[in-house]
Amino acid sequence: MNLGLTSEQEQFRALAREWVDREVVPHATEWDRAEQVDTKIVGKLAELGFLGLGIDEELGGSGGDFLTYCLMMEELGRGDTSVRGIVSVSLGLVAKSIQAYGTEAQQTRWLPALCEGETLGCFGLTEPGTGSDASSLITKAVRDGDDWIISGEKIFITNGTWAGVALIFARTGGPGPKGITAFLVPTDKSGFVRNEIKGKLGLRGQATAEIRLDGVRVEDDARLGEEGQGFKIAMAALDKGRIAVAAGSVGLARGCLEASIGYAKERTQFGKPIASFQLVQEMISDIAVETDAARLLTWRAADLVDRGLPYRTEASMAKLFATEAAVKAANQAIQIFGGYGYVDEFPVGKALRDARVTTLYEGTSQIQKLLIGRALTGISAF
Ligand code: FAD
Repeated sequence: MNLGLTSEQEQFRALAREWVDREVVPHATEWDRAEQVDTKIVGKLAELGFLGLGIDEELGGSGGDFLTYCLMMEELGRGDTSVRGIVSVSLGLVAKSIQAYGTEAQQTRWLPALCEGETLGCFGLTEPGTGSDASSLITKAVRDGDDWIISGEKIFITNGTWAGVALIFARTGGPGPKGITAFLVPTDKSGFVRNEIKGKLGLRGQATAEIRLDGVRVEDDARLGEEGQGFKIAMAALDKGRIAVAAGSVGLARGCLEASIGYAKERTQFGKPIASFQLVQEMISDIAVETDAARLLTWRAADLVDRGLPYRTEASMAKLFATEAAVKAANQAIQIFGGYGYVDEFPVGKALRDARVTTLYEGTSQIQKLLIGRALTGISAF
């Protein structure tokens, strides 16, 4: 077993680390306070090829394996989970679905623009009435000659107000997962209405939207994959997406670890650096062990993807463990920072707010446990 990285992966990680330290870390607090990242970051991510990582070069991307994509997610997650999420959704959920299921025309139309950051993608699965139970969604797409008319509502859609293309899941057939079809909807279509959701606990730099589709007309060539294949497309995107969320959570936890060690060595109480107290070292070592364990689960899942082996359960395990570890790491980091951890001049309070959502989206921790339990027992507890 080789747990080391190749020299290309090492080089990539060093580049990403240096870039995040320069372009993201110094601005993360200001973006959090303003409730918006500087959108110029999208162009900068694209310049480095970060928005096309894992997309074939002939389709406009920058190539690279899945583990390298996870290394990028870890570094972006360390810098700012909002920025990580912009990329995970536009590239990981949308562009990669177009690469996997799109026609040549769809790939030519959308992939270069998404990889070059000319536009962003959003992933519209969740609805006001259907979150964890996504296969019960009720947004409808009805045939009208050669076109489809899509009507319904989506909620909590990352990149929703910025995206040029929305991957929308709508019901075209009967109840259940087999009645769902995926569509690539240009967001400038008449009847596509979106509003930003303000006042989020965390991920404040990133635009999260509610979307209303008021009889949006698209041609049949907007359909991604076959009729009735939409739920499969969504779940395939989320299986890999969960590994990316896990990797981002590892980065967030690592950021908390590094900040905690730095602070504990500088801060003195009772005439000594607080790092010299055993109870503080215990918190630091807990964060370190859980971060490493989370990374190993994440890399194992990523390696299975790269080797073309089944990875769905391992993706759920990595997501469950890493996101819960990130919440614990941020919480312990606040404890180490004492009162200073409670104000946003220091990064760990934001880390806790940002980490908190990762146990909710792309399948809550409870849903991951049900998926793992179903895989192990063969019995569905949904
Ligand atoms: P519910 O499904 O109502 O769950 C509420 C609680 O009940 C949870 O604790 C859950 O674990 C529990 N629960 C539900 N069913 C079961 C069960 N069978 N057994 C045990 N417990 C259960 N969605 C998108 O489509 N695209 C996006 O880009 C996107 N981005 C998001 C960004 C943010 C900031 C947030 C907050 C959400 C985002 N989501 C997005 C939505 C997210 O995926 C959902 O919030 C999530 O799937 C949970 O759904 P829900 O909020 O409706 O909670």
